[in-house]
Amino acid sequence: MESFCVYGRDEGGPFLLVSDHAGQAIPDTLGDLGVSAEERARHIGWDIGIDGVGQGLAEALPALLIEQVFSRLVIDCNRAPGHPTSIVRESDGTAVPGNQSLCAQQSSWREQAILHPYHERIRAELDARQARGQVTCLIALHSFTPVMRGYVRPWQAGILHNRDSRLAHIMLDLLRGEGLCVGDNEPYALTDTSDYTVPEHAERRGLPYIEIEIRQDLITSVAGQEEWVARLARLLPAAWRIFCETYGERS
Ligand SMILES: [Zn+2]
Repeated sequence: MESFCVYGRDEGGPFLLVSDHAGQAIPDTLGDLGVSAEERARHIGWDIGIDGVGQGLAEALPALLIEQVFSRLVIDCNRAPGHPTSIVRESDGTAVPGNQSLCAQQSSWREQAILHPYHERIRAELDARQARGQVTCLIALHSFTPVMRGYVRPWQAGILHNRDSRLAHIMLDLLRGEGLCVGDNEPYALTDTSDYTVPEHAERRGLPYIEIEIRQDLITSVAGQEEWVARLARLLPAAWRIFCETYGERS
């Protein structure tokens, strides 16, 4: 089983979509990690709803989507290999028995089987686009749980950014212009340690990017996913046009 799936199609547009936490699969050899199906279906196992949004968006833009298919409980593909929260022993109050006291060989197997192939696929796509002179804007898609440790999060979506905030600020304005409550580096701030995909693939190459988080209760249903697909398929190209006009990138 491949550790990633590719959806949509590249018709020469600027966007490449990536989704680190879209999947729920666990390799057969790891059983269920000692975590019940109910617990695995919570936000600790995957980014609820984001697979529907990502796949719909890949069709609508259109753009290529590279999606991780394994649960983040097996290995978190938005963490550098060896990071303390790469393979979690506990997540949001739930113990992960299958992740206790792993030896270096066991961790390394998960990196080789799951983390590296996914990031190699993204790297290959970015290299190919660069080789043919195609501009790339990386869109990292995530979703977040509405309540965390008793705190009810007010944002409907969040835009995360770090070194290059230009496109993020444009997208923030557009989403807020729709009357939405949108977090600016909330519910998480993008950093080199709490993230891996954007620092590694966008910031290191100097590519413009947006990391977007959507609140999970808004995209649990197909209707909610379709609403966000339509919104993002409209606003991402609009944000990119403003970015190109403002900063002189080729569109
Ligand atoms: Zn995520």
